[in-house]
Amino acid sequence: MKQITVLGSTGSIGVSTLDVIQRHPDAYKVLALTANRSVEKLRQQCLQYRPRFAVMSDPTAAVQLAAELKGEAPEIEVLADLDGLEHVAALPEADYVMAAIVGAAGLRPALSAVRAGKRLLLANKEALVVSGHLFMEEVARSGAEILPIDSEHNAIFQCMPRDFKRGLEPIGVRRILLTASGGPFRDRPKEQLKRVTPDEACDHPNWSMGRKISVDSATMMNKGLELIEACWLFHTTADKIQVVLHPQSIIHSMVEYVDGSVLAQMGNPDMRTPIAHALAWPQRIESGVDALNLFEIGRLDFQPPDMQRFPCLRLAYEAITAGGTAPAVLNAANEIAVDAFLNGSLKFTAIPQLVEATLSAIPLQPAESLEQLMTCDTEARKVAEQKLSALV
Ligand code: NAD
Ligand code: MG
Repeated sequence: MKQITVLGSTGSIGVSTLDVIQRHPDAYKVLALTANRSVEKLRQQCLQYRPRFAVMSDPTAAVQLAAELKGEAPEIEVLADLDGLEHVAALPEADYVMAAIVGAAGLRPALSAVRAGKRLLLANKEALVVSGHLFMEEVARSGAEILPIDSEHNAIFQCMPRDFKRGLEPIGVRRILLTASGGPFRDRPKEQLKRVTPDEACDHPNWSMGRKISVDSATMMNKGLELIEACWLFHTTADKIQVVLHPQSIIHSMVEYVDGSVLAQMGNPDMRTPIAHALAWPQRIESGVDALNLFEIGRLDFQPPDMQRFPCLRLAYEAITAGGTAPAVLNAANEIAVDAFLNGSLKFTAIPQLVEATLSAIPLQPAESLEQLMTCDTEARKVAEQKLSALV
């Protein structure tokens, strides 16, 4: 029986994780659940999954949850704040930790799990984008095991031999082919993009996801963040990664070898597949995902990405090539821009403008410590907030 902490259990990935877990009651048990401030959702999950711990980042929400659970499930210990998240990520009884908090807010809890040497199921790509090789150094030092949940990275992991930790050349990999659906605006005339609404941006053609990643998919910043994530996870550089537009989202990414072989991982676009893969690895378990019907799909299409149309992808290439603190700045500015777009105070087309302006305003430094990168994240948010007023 493996005990699991699910960080961000009320979100899209969190809910899919619990769905896979409840299909295997003899193999997995929920140890801790966490959320930001959705008290009612976490209360319901607590009553269904009966974890030992429940954490709310928001202290007021934690008090409210504790009051509600007192009568209904007094055995559940309610904790609050970042301290609570870090605590449940490192519990000695936790075998696996699912990192499914959105944004850089998930970095410290994910690191806490890494430092405690857990199997980390990593959905929270922003954590790795911000902290890069320093995060991977912590992984190497502690002996923690990272299993990628992002469908592309999970696909790449499945298409690669296990000794990629020394880099891709020694195992004969020529390139990684990172697939992208192109999001809801792939074919929308560029001049119409100024007026798109948050609801249109969040209406992804193939995947149902949280609002932040949905907007990132529409700007293609999501692919940019994934490019950076892939560099760190697979010990490689951006020039070895080709983004490939693949509108059907059936191939989740590919690995090309020097002998001309290209291995692809396919499946219906449903995050329960990578989640089940990472939970069971190296075994396999049922995920609840329907079998792929190739006759219904009929065809698979591929196109090169258009960097003019999707400036966020270019900015991410530039940030990972520049290195140092640039990816942390890119990520922080993007989080501010996406928030502003979602609350109606920034136009969709101004998202890359705000990110680019923030990157130009902050001098590049080498990445020396995690504390420095977190300070850099805070600083970049401040600069982006200031620049926001000029763009709205
Ligand atoms: P979501 O918005 O649906 O859920 C986010 C979760 O994090 C919620 O439980 C929320 O309560 C919690 N949270 C939000 N802000 C927090 C904060 N400041 N402190 C603590 N907890 C906080 O997001 P999602 O779509 O499930 O995505 C989660 C992560 O997984 C993201 O990093 C995303 O990029 C990645 N991811 C998601 C998908 C997907 O299909 N949804 C696919 C690949 C990768
Ligand atoms: Mg992805």
